[in-house]
Amino acid sequence: MSGEDLLREALELIRRSAEPDAPSAPDGPDKPGEPDRPAVPGEDARWPRRIVMAPGALEAAAAHAEERGYGRILLVADANTRVAAGRRLEQFLANRGIRAETVLVAANEAGDVAADEASVVQVLIERQKMKAEALAAVGGGTLHDIARYAAFTCGIPFVSVPTAPSVDGFTSGVAPLILRGRKVTVPAAAPEAVFADPDVLVRAPSRLIAAGFGDMLGKYTSLFDWRFGFLSGGEPYSPAAADLTERALRTCVAHADGIGRGTEEGILALMRALFASGLAMLLFGQSHPASGAEHHLSHWWEMEFLRRGRRQALHGAKVGVACAIVADYYRSVPEERVRAAAGERADEVLRLLGNLPSGEELRGLLRTAGGPAAPDELGIEPELIEGGLRQAHLVRPHRRTLLNALRRLNVDEVKD
Ligand SMILES: [Zn+2]
Repeated sequence: MSGEDLLREALELIRRSAEPDAPSAPDGPDKPGEPDRPAVPGEDARWPRRIVMAPGALEAAAAHAEERGYGRILLVADANTRVAAGRRLEQFLANRGIRAETVLVAANEAGDVAADEASVVQVLIERQKMKAEALAAVGGGTLHDIARYAAFTCGIPFVSVPTAPSVDGFTSGVAPLILRGRKVTVPAAAPEAVFADPDVLVRAPSRLIAAGFGDMLGKYTSLFDWRFGFLSGGEPYSPAAADLTERALRTCVAHADGIGRGTEEGILALMRALFASGLAMLLFGQSHPASGAEHHLSHWWEMEFLRRGRRQALHGAKVGVACAIVADYYRSVPEERVRAAAGERADEVLRLLGNLPSGEELRGLLRTAGGPAAPDELGIEPELIEGGLRQAHLVRPHRRTLLNALRRLNVDEVKD
């Protein structure tokens, strides 16, 4: 179970669903929007057409740019990712007579590269200066979010070159941005193609690899919350997207040890699982498969850290730790409360709850994969856990998670 079949199947599902006579994905408030004009005339920019994860992927990215006829391309990187892959990609592009420049996105006051308005404008200005015909993100999730939104804004194509298996959002068609200190998710461009070089991925810092594992582990609670939202009413559901995500999660858990030891097999299995999870979101058209209360808690911490001017922990590291907290919290809710929140199909919800791993099991998996497991390892104090469990649902007030349903129950009881 190395994830190869999984990734192939995910791409096939996407391809089929993109055919003109395919049933359309459910509509919703956060369905990824389409760019004002298609990135390539006659094609929509919602799906990556190719995912190349093989030796020579950087060279393949340059060949892709040539096939597409791009004369000028702007790489979006930071100092580390430029060394990891950006310089070589610049060279491969130059060899083909393509003008390639790199914008190194500057860190914010706290010292983090953030997907905020300043970073987006920095990329837009560089793009205007060189009149780039395409953008390539070379790096992790944050650089991708900056590049995908900038590309979407200019109506030009976007190519993904991940340098670490650190998040499941590489193929995403939406960008979570920080706007005036608040997290907003906005329509953006999905990459037209993805090029991941295994040599680059295995050399990624272990904390980034562990973060990718944490983002995947979060699917335990996101899949539970999605099913809960569907069973208790209100949320759309797709068995195909749920199945894809669940198999990606299982692939990842089966390779926890190899991921922790940094074996090539483990890291490539993780990357395929992350791609599959991202594609499941594209297939469904919304983030339900991969994002539940654990993501809301992580986003809430992120905003608190921003407010306090503190350096951020990695997205996936927060999600993994949050997943263990949410799992323990859900398992501790008295049965009658769960029944009150779940309504008619409470038996099914309780059965699912019984299958949720304990926080201790989840923390064990996080440690096996070499990541932080306890909140204090991320600087998250008890006060931030309690505050988060009370308020995290407000990050996404209309998404029905068990956490959200329990909070609403409390509000209704106070009103009565
Ligand atoms: Zn995530």
